[in-house]
Amino acid sequence: MRLWTDAAWLAGRWQREVLLEVDGAGRWSRIEAGRACPPDARRLPGAVLPPLVNAHSHAFQRAMAGLAERREQDQDDFWSWRDAMYGVALRITPDELRGLATRLYRELLGGGYTQVVEFHYLQHRQDGRPYEDELAMAWALVDAARDAGIGLTLLPVLYAHQGFGKRGLREDQRRFKTDADWVWRACQRLRQAGVNAGVALHSLRAAHAADVDALLARVGDAELPIHIHAAEQTAEVDDCLRLLGQRPVQWLAPRLDPRWQLVHATHLLPDEIEAIARSGAGVVLCPGTEANLGDGLPPLAACLQAGIPLTLGSDSQVTREWREELRWLEYTQRLLVRQRNVCAKPPAEPSSAARLFEAMQAGSARAAGLADWGLRVGARADWLVLDPDAEGLEHVALERLLDALVFASRGPCFSEVGVAGRVVLEG
Ligand code: ZN
Repeated sequence: MRLWTDAAWLAGRWQREVLLEVDGAGRWSRIEAGRACPPDARRLPGAVLPPLVNAHSHAFQRAMAGLAERREQDQDDFWSWRDAMYGVALRITPDELRGLATRLYRELLGGGYTQVVEFHYLQHRQDGRPYEDELAMAWALVDAARDAGIGLTLLPVLYAHQGFGKRGLREDQRRFKTDADWVWRACQRLRQAGVNAGVALHSLRAAHAADVDALLARVGDAELPIHIHAAEQTAEVDDCLRLLGQRPVQWLAPRLDPRWQLVHATHLLPDEIEAIARSGAGVVLCPGTEANLGDGLPPLAACLQAGIPLTLGSDSQVTREWREELRWLEYTQRLLVRQRNVCAKPPAEPSSAARLFEAMQAGSARAAGLADWGLRVGARADWLVLDPDAEGLEHVALERLLDALVFASRGPCFSEVGVAGRVVLEG
């Protein structure tokens, strides 16, 4: 199949008159700029962007997005939100999960993501007993991704303890209970069924040192993504320091390699940023959720400077489009340091939107356990067509289109979304 567009974002910049060819396996087999439209090519109705990976999602939390925005006690913080979230987690059945995940994944496609990484810890029946097939909830997500047409990376999560120095789970965490054997068995079964699966550790709160090392021993050298929530809350950093004598990222540092993705990594010291950069591990930022939960601000400029691979995650699903996440990322840094275009790097890259978008492109493949990503020969043939009539994009010169998309557009902005050579969303 051949596609042609007036303009496409290739190798970090807009290029004109681009021919895109998809092979029989749904991968890009040829991408060339400066080509007239051949008669057998379909002319795409706008400029073309590569999509992004949504590297951190808990699909079930879509059920409570927007419903936890009232303070009903003296203080509302991450921990009180978590109690409310457990209330939702205790109710959802596999059928309900499939339905709400299907709708969420369609929303994510509309938001410009064509691959979602599910950090999946809601495993067992409401009373905590395993389902007859212990992967019933995981299959619900697999079915939802297939129905929606989005790519899926599924990470069964090791979730064994309620906190630092506190063994076992709380009663309201009973649906999450797993250990290294469970997670490794789930990962292998999913992979045998053709699902792109890796593994995750919920956090150092929920996976103690012995659990982390037990899971790593099973994974060995396997080329799988390994994700963990790390240093999201200051209380978690303080507890870790007290119990393990080190901060979470300091403790993890000797174990990190390019398969690892640190989700949030909000509270980092300079030596921790250096250690992450040296290891090749990535950082998954979830700016909408981090703002919603009052987590704090990541040292974004330092992470960019250190060349750490970055990605975005919709996490609690309060935001479901990367345009808004990138806007949050840059704006919160502006408010913090009282300057503009904090993420830009002139003269090479004077656009904050472009620098952030490119950083996220670079982190996407690894975070999702894919060999390649983007508008590149060999990568899966995924694409976004920008609607030239979208509010905020009309009459904007091509050179400023990505800036306008991130900072000044609203409403639907993609007229077509393609995954593996197939149009999955239109209009
Ligand atoms: Zn999360």
